[in-house]
Amino acid sequence: MSQKILAINAGSSSLKFKLYTMPDEKVLMSGQIDRIGTKTSEFSYVIAGKRSKIVAPMESFDTAIQNVIDTLLTSHVIQSKNEITGVGHRISHGGRYYSAPVLVDEDVKSKIDELAVLSPLHNPVNLLGIEAFEKLLPHAQEVAVFDTSFHHTIPAKAYMYALPYSYYEDHGIRRYGFHGPSHEYIAQRAPELFGKEKTHRMISCHLGNGGSLTALLDGKSVNSSMGFTPLAGIVMGTRSGDIDPEIIPFIEEEFHMSSQEVRNMLNKDSGLLGISGLSNDIRDLDKAAQAGNKRAQLALDVYVHQIQQYIGAYTTDLEGLDTLVFTAGIGEHSALIRQMVCDRLGYLGVKLDAAKNDANELSIEAADSRVKVAVIPTDEEIIIARDVMSVLGLN
Ligand code: ADP
Repeated sequence: MSQKILAINAGSSSLKFKLYTMPDEKVLMSGQIDRIGTKTSEFSYVIAGKRSKIVAPMESFDTAIQNVIDTLLTSHVIQSKNEITGVGHRISHGGRYYSAPVLVDEDVKSKIDELAVLSPLHNPVNLLGIEAFEKLLPHAQEVAVFDTSFHHTIPAKAYMYALPYSYYEDHGIRRYGFHGPSHEYIAQRAPELFGKEKTHRMISCHLGNGGSLTALLDGKSVNSSMGFTPLAGIVMGTRSGDIDPEIIPFIEEEFHMSSQEVRNMLNKDSGLLGISGLSNDIRDLDKAAQAGNKRAQLALDVYVHQIQQYIGAYTTDLEGLDTLVFTAGIGEHSALIRQMVCDRLGYLGVKLDAAKNDANELSIEAADSRVKVAVIPTDEEIIIARDVMSVLGLN
């Protein structure tokens, strides 16, 4: 029987969603609310190909979600809110507890809350989203889909940190990896597009405001650049990525900063924004660098260098490379970053076709490139909706 399933992706002040009929995966409505918690929240949505936008005060997740439900009803996408049978929530950190999506109950909520210390920017708002839907759509069953669970196939040699073993054994301090639904989507979609053989050894580069690379062997994650938390890995919009761990106590002691202040600095004031002192957005940095701003150029260079280093490392994990995929905001739209990254990968057999790259085509490698290079728009929401169907036993 056809089901109406809502996939929710809640950020610190934003909410993205798609309403599907499943299992046919038809999108009935998609939308995004930005600047939640302000008087000028922006709600943009698409129904049957028609785009609309509302600017209105939405001071909490409850009001934002109420707006979504009201719009579904007034646009006759649904006749009653009871038609929505399942809601899937993307949850940042599942820690040691979850290697697969689960039905939400009190225990799941308390574990998401407990893990907020590891993902302070995301787990608390993910929980707010769950609670708002419990209140506003009491008939629907809720499913938690964890960013970390896709990476449970990473082998111990890649997830262990070289700390005293008890930190791992007693406290679960290890690499987890994030952006699971996005990397999983790429792992499923690329073989559909290019065939299994060509996607045997693949690296998925999720380059958005947050960013991570994943090494995929036959569609399974064998390494991923984020770590115990989503702060690790490559340079991001405002996050530092990997740094020498001794820098942290050094800054705390030298500048009399608390752990919380250092955590904020590493999450919010670092990355592309920190180096450039200008912006976390690649478009701004590109413009500024072209106008001669040296720190904007440096931020771009450091960003690209780290991506190249991970590609080199993951090619070793995979013992070769068949397909390199770019996805998310930067990966899908920035021909400049893709070209800068690939410029140094000739030794792996990567060669871009400049015109295809500039046009953001699906396949952007040159005819004589040994490695396929692809631009695949990610779709985290469809992975969430499929997970809801399987957890609820509906497929
Ligand atoms: P999030 O991690 O917040 O979901 P996205 O995946 O939407 O982020 O990526 C947002 C980033 O994508 C922006 O900060 C910007 O750097 C980059 N971006 C978006 N559109 C473009 C574009 N047309 N050209 C270059 N970069 C872009």
